[in-house]
Amino acid sequence: MAGFRSLARQVRDPGCDTALRRYSLRKCLERFAPYGHRATWDHLCRRHRFGPEDRELDPGRLVAALDELEEARAVWLAYEERFAARRRREKQEGLRGLGTLDDWHRRVWGGNGVVRCEDPAVHPSDPLPEVLRRLIGALEQGPGEACPVCAGPRIAWEGPGLGPVCGDCGVGVPRAALTSGALARARAGRRCPLASAA
Ligand SMILES: [Zn+2]
Repeated sequence: MAGFRSLARQVRDPGCDTALRRYSLRKCLERFAPYGHRATWDHLCRRHRFGPEDRELDPGRLVAALDELEEARAVWLAYEERFAARRRREKQEGLRGLGTLDDWHRRVWGGNGVVRCEDPAVHPSDPLPEVLRRLIGALEQGPGEACPVCAGPRIAWEGPGLGPVCGDCGVGVPRAALTSGALARARAGRRCPLASAA
């Protein structure tokens, strides 16, 4: 199975035909797709203005989409390395890990479904590296009250995996990024604590 880097080389290869270059970009998402495969593909298609069946596709758009994806991957892998190093240090010092955060990291290791969007058409429209930087900042800061990606307060328990989902940008929020109060509110289905005042 080809790795991310060799697939990326194919996307950039002017000697390959455009359909194969698009196919290779799509295959990259099997290695790294922060919103999950379909939603990340939808994001790249919209942001770089190409369709899945585009016959007159300008390969420059595929390369621009790959640039965005690669930058996001570098941001994420650097964070994973820092996280792993911190855990090793803590283990040596005899400290126990944080259960929820460790479990979550194991599930999304490598960057798949970090902030999964169950509906492939509903996801943040900002550049992926920026979204990941915001998420990482929030994770490093510790649990908060709002969505770590868009700061929206409307978080509800949803989706087939049943977990906190942001009602504004559509991402599945890692539980470790929310305080126990925010989790309890999401579970109770109260998207916004102020909504009842209306
Ligand atoms: Zn959000």
